[in-house]
Amino acid sequence: MQPVIVDSPAALRLVSERWRAAGLSLGLVPTMGALHAGHRSLLRRARSECDRVVASIFVNPAQFAPTEDLDRYPRTLDADLTVLAEEHIDALLLPRASALYPPGFATAVRVEGGLVAGHEAAARPGHLDGVALVVAKLLVAARADRAYFGQKDAQQCAVVARLAADLDTGTEIVVCPTVRDADGLALSSRNAYLSDEQRAQALAIPAGLAAAARRYAAGDRDSARLRAAVEARLAGAEDLVPDYVDVVDGASFAPVAEAGRGSKIVVAATIGSARLIDTLSLGTDEPPATPRGAHHTDDAHGLEPGVAERSRQCTVP
Ligand code: AMP
Repeated sequence: MQPVIVDSPAALRLVSERWRAAGLSLGLVPTMGALHAGHRSLLRRARSECDRVVASIFVNPAQFAPTEDLDRYPRTLDADLTVLAEEHIDALLLPRASALYPPGFATAVRVEGGLVAGHEAAARPGHLDGVALVVAKLLVAARADRAYFGQKDAQQCAVVARLAADLDTGTEIVVCPTVRDADGLALSSRNAYLSDEQRAQALAIPAGLAAAARRYAAGDRDSARLRAAVEARLAGAEDLVPDYVDVVDGASFAPVAEAGRGSKIVVAATIGSARLIDTLSLGTDEPPATPRGAHHTDDAHGLEPGVAERSRQCTVP
């Protein structure tokens, strides 16, 4: 069955209030559409944990800089509606920009401090403020019990968790594992921008994370060496331009000298017109799968090759 489509925060609030009055729990899955198996994993998790599930599809202008890809961001509404029906989603918020930002709109929402001092905040000024603004609006309108986000966008998750706690929204922020293609590349709507050749080079990102994960599993906690393991792989992809590789505390995004539980390796790199980001939670995530024959760098460190090939693949059909 198709979800009920609502086109404004006020309409969403009415639906939500009806469900809440009936004693039903509500899950919220915010997206920008062009739905893939990563989004499906969030929808399924919400479906399994909540009585009613609402998704949103909104390509939020507030989180794109004027130089970014707002106009050409993939939009696949018909296919998205099929996905939402297949995943038994109850409602879809599908607003125009003017429904969220009407004339006279003048409010900003910003998380302050070290969490937004670097990484995506530095590379994309205003991006995380735009995310914070739209997510705050969605949380207010939906009054969901839980809202679901993907840890690929780890800094976004940390910002959303911070604002949900600070604004007493009463919504639990649920962070879901990254879904990857069989070759290890994290699924992203922006992967559509990649040529076959660029996509092959982009595999250096999951290969680098897998190499660092193997070092970590072998007992290495030195952040500089873990970073170097990732950077060595990125350096082998000649068209890939690394932006950052860092080992950070997952909640504060402060760089850590010694990795431990709760640390994440965060990576951003550009290839062609696509900016790709990826994250690995050390000691928690399965290392990304890496294609056969891509283990040579580890051999130089004396680590057993091929460990990642045994890892569980986190794919959603
Ligand atoms: P987007 O449509 O790109 O804004 O993503 C909507 C939500 O899906 C965000 O919480 C993302 O972190 C999440 N997401 C995107 N890609 C993936 C993925 N490969 N695995 C899991 N979640 C993802």
